[in-house]
Amino acid sequence: MKNDCIFCAIAAGEIPSFKVYEDDLVVAYLDINPFTKGHTLVIPKAHSQGLLETPDETLAAIIVRVKKVAAHLKAALPCDGFNILQNNGEAAGQTVHHVHFHIVPRYGQEPIVFENHAGNMDELKALAARIRL
Ligand code: 5GP
Ligand code: ZN
Repeated sequence: MKNDCIFCAIAAGEIPSFKVYEDDLVVAYLDINPFTKGHTLVIPKAHSQGLLETPDETLAAIIVRVKKVAAHLKAALPCDGFNILQNNGEAAGQTVHHVHFHIVPRYGQEPIVFENHAGNMDELKALAARIRL
């Protein structure tokens, strides 16, 4: 666990999050400022900065969890499609330096925009309770 890392604190349960899925290796929770309804982040519990710093075995295990959570979201939300996004370095828009995969649900013909929107805590709480895996 890295001291000043907000996602390590979420993984440790030290700061609250709207969890969708958790196992020994990963935790998945709703993005607090979602691009779209159901925008979920999947992180390894063990800290690493980005894709290049994460061990191959961990990455292999994470992507299987990303698939599992995405399949669940598609059915439970439901949504029509989803983007997987994974940013590395500030030049790429990485703002939290603990490796994470975004699952961004897509609906119908809505334009594909990668932009945060202020999250409503009551809505996020209710949504997480409804779709928790
Ligand atoms: P990045 O731009 O680093 O790929 O994505 C970081 C994401 O983490 C952003 O979409 C942002 O809204 C989300 N985020 C930042 N801080 C928190 C937090 O404390 N809780 C949750 N649930 N999401 C966060
Ligand atoms: Zn961390």
